Amino acid sequence: MGERLYRCDGIILKRIDVGEADRIVTILTPQGKIIATARGVRKTQSKLSGHLELLSHCQLQLAVGKTRDVLTQSIAVERFAQLQQQLVRMAAGYYVAELTDTLLADEDAAAQVYELCLVALRTLCTSTSVEMALHWYTMQLCDAVGYRPQLVDCAVCGSTLDQHANLWSAVQGGMLCPNCARSDIQATRVSLAVFKVLRLVQRESLSYVIALEVPAEVHATVFVILRRWVMRHSERAIRSAQFLDDVRSQTF
Ligand SMILES: [Zn+2]
Repeated sequence: MGERLYRCDGIILKRIDVGEADRIVTILTPQGKIIATARGVRKTQSKLSGHLELLSHCQLQLAVGKTRDVLTQSIAVERFAQLQQQLVRMAAGYYVAELTDTLLADEDAAAQVYELCLVALRTLCTSTSVEMALHWYTMQLCDAVGYRPQLVDCAVCGSTLDQHANLWSAVQGGMLCPNCARSDIQATRVSLAVFKVLRLVQRESLSYVIALEVPAEVHATVFVILRRWVMRHSERAIRSAQFLDDVRSQTF
């Protein structure tokens, strides 16, 4: 009986070594996430090796398997080589991969997340603002998978937020107006600059926000807010966030 084969485009999000030479690979495709086996891929003569690097964008062929589909061909279309050449970009790439793998559960959002992920990886390769690219991707990913924070209207009463809004409440689901401050006594006080960056990365394109000049302390606060937001919804820590912190503390 012949194998049933199919082709798809994908981005490699995760690779786990199994057995002597195999790997289990998590792939983001426009149709959803696929967890597939790459047999013998760690042998040097394998045709697949070199075409399944983490975060590379590939054209894939798979055979339908009983428990898991099996990768039969892979051609790297984009390798995002610059991510490997600088530690901070590499850490950012890992963060994007882990965030995507952690938050994307639903096939419905896959096509949108796939496009967002490609935009983010391309920008991470060339941009000088790794932070802004990460804020933008995190926010857009959350939006796509159904975890959009309230940044236009108060998360509690729904009144339109203005420049006096200065409280972020992950518990309530976004920013609070001054009247609703008591709804979360642990809400985080944020500057207008932080509030503006959060709104911009939710509303604007990456090419727009990447050009903005933002002080380092604003970036740091936005990063913490978004990371906690993600953890709240994924209910687990993003391990690569620590690596990113370590790298950034040495770089900046
Ligand atoms: Zn309110």
